[in-house]
Amino acid sequence: MIRRVDLRGRVAAGEVLNLQALVPRAVFDVEAALDVVRPICLDVRHRGLEAIREYGEKFDHVAVAELRVPAEALKTALEELDPEVRAALEESIRRVREVSLDERGSDVESQPAPGGRVTQRLVPVQRVGLYVPGGRAPLASSVVMNVVPAQVAGVTSLALASPPQKEFGGLPHPTVLAVCAMLGIDEVYAMGGAQAIAGFAYGFEGCRKVNLITGPGNIYVVAAKRFVQSEVGIDSEAGPTEIAVLADDSANAAHVAADLISQAEHDPMAASVLVTPSETLAAAVEAELAIQVPQTKHHERVAEALGGQQSAVVLVDDLDQGTAVVDAYAAEHLEIQTVDAEERSLQISNAGAIFVGGWSPVSLGDYCAGSNHVLPTAGCACHSSGLSVRSFLKAMHVVNYTREALQEVAGHVVALAQAEDLPAHGAAVSVRFKSED
Ligand code: NAD
Repeated sequence: MIRRVDLRGRVAAGEVLNLQALVPRAVFDVEAALDVVRPICLDVRHRGLEAIREYGEKFDHVAVAELRVPAEALKTALEELDPEVRAALEESIRRVREVSLDERGSDVESQPAPGGRVTQRLVPVQRVGLYVPGGRAPLASSVVMNVVPAQVAGVTSLALASPPQKEFGGLPHPTVLAVCAMLGIDEVYAMGGAQAIAGFAYGFEGCRKVNLITGPGNIYVVAAKRFVQSEVGIDSEAGPTEIAVLADDSANAAHVAADLISQAEHDPMAASVLVTPSETLAAAVEAELAIQVPQTKHHERVAEALGGQQSAVVLVDDLDQGTAVVDAYAAEHLEIQTVDAEERSLQISNAGAIFVGGWSPVSLGDYCAGSNHVLPTAGCACHSSGLSVRSFLKAMHVVNYTREALQEVAGHVVALAQAEDLPAHGAAVSVRFKSED
């Protein structure tokens, strides 16, 4: 069901020098998906609303007359929301908001010289397009993860898109709409995939283009976010889910298997990777997968994800090698279930988010940890961060020098301008003090 990659003895023998090239990855990657989404994005740019409608009909199999969700539909969805789900969403919102408030930060004023002030002002992005997946599962929790940090950042214009659902008459899923209503989001569009991303990036009849697009999605959504980057900002490439578990004999095999399955449930392209030096744990987790997978609701999707090239049980010589492997992999989610989990987590530089110990499963982070579940995938955790309040803030330097402070440093500016053969740069400073020569 899940393949094995045996690295034991191979790294020490120098056979495997580039861990990055060896960790499991999907065959159909973002680069390949770009070929599919490029014409869609260009068509939406050209034909706007009509093109979005047509692609919705083609990929979501439903004709949508009005892309903008009527206010009445949002209100009804909230009225009809299951009280238990509402209570869970309220708790999720509370926790994400609390973390976002703590992380917001404030302006920083520095004085590198007397009379010379540099202030870093944190300014919210003005208009943001938020994407909420809805192809296989309606990710109502992604509304929370997108909207709450944006609101805490102070974004004033928020638009949200989620794919139209055939069984709900072409509206996004009612739970998605209900969370929008809970959070006061009224600009909601029934559009999904690359056409939604392009719609936000270029704008269309009735929808002003945005400055930034955030949110997770499948490989087509991610490829479209990469394509439109010359037009708008994006958060990160948050694509098909990945979980890596670094574990030793102290881990519970049934729990590890359940965690691997939980993320494989998202997408046949999802990646579940166990890295362990323990042959015993590896065999026990494989046995657990054989028991648990047939019992899970979406067993076909899960089996496809676990059986794919992107998933594996990786055997390593010891935990230190395992740590190097998961760091090279840069998983979206990294669970560390070892005797020294907290200490070991400090050695990791590359992961979307780290889940420490046996009581912090990824599913907790998906909904109710207070952390954000929109996280970089496909190795992007080497350079990108998960979504947070900071994703919606721009840092802007404000420079404010007095006459004396400028005069004091003028000679250095002129010297550097001359060294770069840009004398006009120097002149723009020296002209201010000419009359005093
Ligand atoms: P989705 O909303 O991301 O994608 C559905 C859209 O994909 C459809 O509306 C359709 O327009 C488009 N599409 C489908 N097939 C296509 C094709 N052949 N060509 C062009 N476009 C096509 O919903 P989904 O498919 O359920 O995927 C959700 C994804 O989000 C999963 O991969 C999941 O793992 C991922 N996810 C990632 C994170 C993260 O932070 N990295 C978090 C949550 C979910």
